[in-house]
Amino acid sequence: MKIALIAHDKKKNEITELAIKYQDVLKNYELYATGTTGTLIMGETGLKIKRMKSGPLGGDQQIGAMLADGEMDLVIFLRDPLTAQPHEPDVSALLRLCDVQQIPLATNMSSAIVMLEALKDGTFIKL
Ligand code: PGA
Repeated sequence: MKIALIAHDKKKNEITELAIKYQDVLKNYELYATGTTGTLIMGETGLKIKRMKSGPLGGDQQIGAMLADGEMDLVIFLRDPLTAQPHEPDVSALLRLCDVQQIPLATNMSSAIVMLEALKDGTFIKL
């Protein structure tokens, strides 16, 4: 099972905190991340992550391509709802593809925790 981890700049602390807390869960899966997010998480945890390009340089689109190919099973994308992003079209496309493919998507810390707890206790349901 493949999981994507992405966070906008003001959410980088939160995603790192999440990855540290759920390291024992996440280590059982194939992890992908946008460039900067992946580097930060790997620096703070022992997790192995396949890093795409940085989000603004196409990383969101690379993860979007995996979604379109049915190659991604869960996306945690901690978005910053209060800051305009130069790559907003790429962000929207990624979110849209999650809905097209019925892929669980967490866009904030609370929903990410719900999903990771479900993975942890084995109640995560994949359509
Ligand atoms: P980053 O990209 O992890 O390279 O910062 C995230 C994003 O802004 O989409």
